[in-house]
Amino acid sequence: MVEKKNKPNICPMCGDEDIDYLDADWQDGLFFYKCVCRQCGAEFTEVYRLEYDGYNMPDENDEEHIFDVDGNEL
Ligand SMILES: [Zn+2]
Repeated sequence: MVEKKNKPNICPMCGDEDIDYLDADWQDGLFFYKCVCRQCGAEFTEVYRLEYDGYNMPDENDEEHIFDVDGNEL
């Protein structure tokens, strides 16, 4: 029995960190990242919870401004 890993950027089969990231998709506030382990060839999907972290908005000069969740420009 192979020890299961449950961390990002680590293969859940063999525990290696040599991961290829493929397609990404999101649904219902979750972000799904398809992965393939380069060591053992395992295919799996990492799931991340999306969290609002502010917004970007260009001004009249088309320069981008980034605001955090409190509306402060970064
Ligand atoms: Zn692996």
